[in-house]
Amino acid sequence: MSFSTFGFSEPILTAIDEIGFVTPTAIQLAAIPAVLSGKDIIAVAQTGSGKTASFLLPLLERLIDKPKVKANQVRALILTPTRELSIQIGDTLDSLRKNLAMRSQVVYGGVKINPQMMKLRGGTEILVATPGRLLDLFSKNALKFQQLEILVLDEADRMLDMGFSKEIIKILALLPRTRQSLLFSATFSNDIQGLAAGLLKSPVLIDVSPHTSVAPTIQQWAYEVDKEQKAALLIHLIRSKGWGRVLVFTRTQKGADNLVKKLLRTGISAAAIHGDKSQGVRMRTLDEFKAAKIQILIATDIAARGIDIDGLPQVINFDLPKDPQNYIHRIGRTGRAGTEGQGLSLVSADEVELLANIEALTGQTLTREIETGFSPSHKIPLTKLQKSVPKKPRKPKLKKLNSCKIDRI
Ligand code: AMP
Repeated sequence: MSFSTFGFSEPILTAIDEIGFVTPTAIQLAAIPAVLSGKDIIAVAQTGSGKTASFLLPLLERLIDKPKVKANQVRALILTPTRELSIQIGDTLDSLRKNLAMRSQVVYGGVKINPQMMKLRGGTEILVATPGRLLDLFSKNALKFQQLEILVLDEADRMLDMGFSKEIIKILALLPRTRQSLLFSATFSNDIQGLAAGLLKSPVLIDVSPHTSVAPTIQQWAYEVDKEQKAALLIHLIRSKGWGRVLVFTRTQKGADNLVKKLLRTGISAAAIHGDKSQGVRMRTLDEFKAAKIQILIATDIAARGIDIDGLPQVINFDLPKDPQNYIHRIGRTGRAGTEGQGLSLVSADEVELLANIEALTGQTLTREIETGFSPSHKIPLTKLQKSVPKKPRKPKLKKLNSCKIDRI
């Protein structure tokens, strides 16, 4: 994949070539088409991911044929938390726009305001600014926003951490309501989601941060159980806990089919979705599960990709996945949009290693549980299951965006 596939104009492609970018990074692959299409985005990306070019390049392309703005007006505003970041973005911008007739300015506090006011007099197509200085310039009539079309908030989490939320609210009130807004943040905290809800319209969520954490609203347990007793324990749990809809993961298609048979035999409604079932059957099964016509849905990892079910309080790992990353994908089906969820794993002695890998990846130790009301011999040496040592817990990441509707990439 090269930058030419995005359909950039020649002067922009030449600048990309001159700056030395050959292959787009993950954030660029996801964000550039979304921004070019005019959509709002919320992008979770760290510094170093190539995020700056991921918004600057499509922004330049969108503005390329526009006339120059009038006195003191701005077409695109890029807000950043610090002077250093503003300068850095300004430098990249200078390299990328050098073959274009577009003007850009960088303004930040801690220096004299008059020279900045002078430079803004004739208007500037792209302005990079820190929030406080932007408001100062506005209050001195050095800036007008009637012609503003694009807003970028870069490192929005840092802006909130630095106490800029009041300034951001004030700035948003000054901007035209009809605009494209792009929000970049290294984290996806509740505060960021709240900000996004007030700022973005039907945003596309782009998340290229490494997925190593489980939402803190999800409780996790490992039930120690003999392999042969797993189905019996699952049936016992469904009945004794009074669960409604439950999503159960198995490692194999055969395992999924066998489990369906066992559940049906005991009068529990269940169905499986896996790679051996046609797309039509899978969709129908999923619809029935969503409509609560099926109580237990059993899925393999591949079949479960993309499944998004609201109000799913329990996810069960009947078998642990071989790839620990899949544990995070599986467990992430519950606890969506900041709701409470439970992720339970039925762990037999032969899966101790898999459990250790999961705990190393997530940095969390799963609470060991032995179901007391369940009589069959399902005990395995506790020490075996408890030997894994988790790494330092990572910062939790919540998947919630208040009232915003999000298309996920
Ligand atoms: P950023 O995450 O925007 O701070 O970018 C981090 C570094 O990656 C900067 O030095 C950019 O010049 C560089 N960079 C951005 N995109 C690319 C790319 N597609 N290929 C190579 N380097 C890149």
